[in-house]
Amino acid sequence: MTTSRDVAEWLKSHDDLLILTHLHPDGDALGSSLALCLALESIGKRAAVCCQDGCPGYLDALPARDRLHLPESLPFEPKALACVDLSVADRLGRAAFLLDRGLPVCCVDHHEHPALAAEVRLVNPQAAASGELIDEIRRALDVPLTREMALCLYVAISTDTGNFAFSCTTPDALRTVADCVETGIDIDEMNYELFRKRSRARTKLLGRALEGMSFPCAGRIALMTLRGDDFAACGAAMADTEGIVNFGINAEGVLAAILAVRQGDQVKFSLRSRGAVNVAALLRPLGGGGHERAAGLTLEGDFDACVQRVLSAVRTAVEGLE
Ligand code: AMP
Ligand code: MN
Ligand code: MN
Repeated sequence: MTTSRDVAEWLKSHDDLLILTHLHPDGDALGSSLALCLALESIGKRAAVCCQDGCPGYLDALPARDRLHLPESLPFEPKALACVDLSVADRLGRAAFLLDRGLPVCCVDHHEHPALAAEVRLVNPQAAASGELIDEIRRALDVPLTREMALCLYVAISTDTGNFAFSCTTPDALRTVADCVETGIDIDEMNYELFRKRSRARTKLLGRALEGMSFPCAGRIALMTLRGDDFAACGAAMADTEGIVNFGINAEGVLAAILAVRQGDQVKFSLRSRGAVNVAALLRPLGGGGHERAAGLTLEGDFDACVQRVLSAVRTAVEGLE
């Protein structure tokens, strides 16, 4: 098992480091990656973050976004790769070609069973967010926590813990956040940006998802679907689906919630559980994964057929509880 110290030594021994994170990046993906980038810069390294997709609007308040690049326009030729909040190579999307160059790779992640080949790995499914692990690495690098880094880590940890509400909100996660708050960041402003502010398009898309919500399996499952026409009618984009699945899992009596979103030829699934069923485990045979209580999957093909496949896997898990 490698430690934050091993990862720190590995990072020190490489230069021109490109940090890779998953497509449709969330607060942890970007916050953790940007914080690592800033820490590497502060020890004199050239570093950048690469993601298939740009920064979604609700994360606009993240600092250092000029370090984020699309795979088609990298600022330098990378000599080493650091994969952050990424458990499977598939989730790099258009950035996946970078893994085929035989460059040295390190991996920092908190998903269950990450399957990414790397020279050194700091993997801890007990960590609330990859940001918690990045902060361990920062300390191992002896890099002081700046206000910019603190904002990035705050975004990482506050988003992956549902604003410090989910069961993954450990004392360690809160201690890391306490260090961030100590730097003087404005958490009220950040929480408004991340959790309260909602664009009109996002609000209307939420309305459409709620209107169509059904409760199969005697109300123990909540199912929501969004298709192309829903997005067009609201002027919304894929990033506007973030958080919608929680309205399913928060409906009384629901044990597992599914949000299915049509995206081109693909169907993107978001699943949530209150803990009785392990949604990462039930999606793994279908090619998905994630965490016990928050998992995802991407399928190709007919929308309704894909939805039925996932619904029946969830139904089997829920019915297996009795
Ligand atoms: P989301 O519902 O998109 O917020 O994703 C919840 C969790 O599921 C994420 O933290 C990811 O770890 C995981 N996940 C999402 N989509 C996929 C996918 N297509 N394949 C594997 N894991 C996924
Ligand atoms: Mn993530
Ligand atoms: Mn994460």
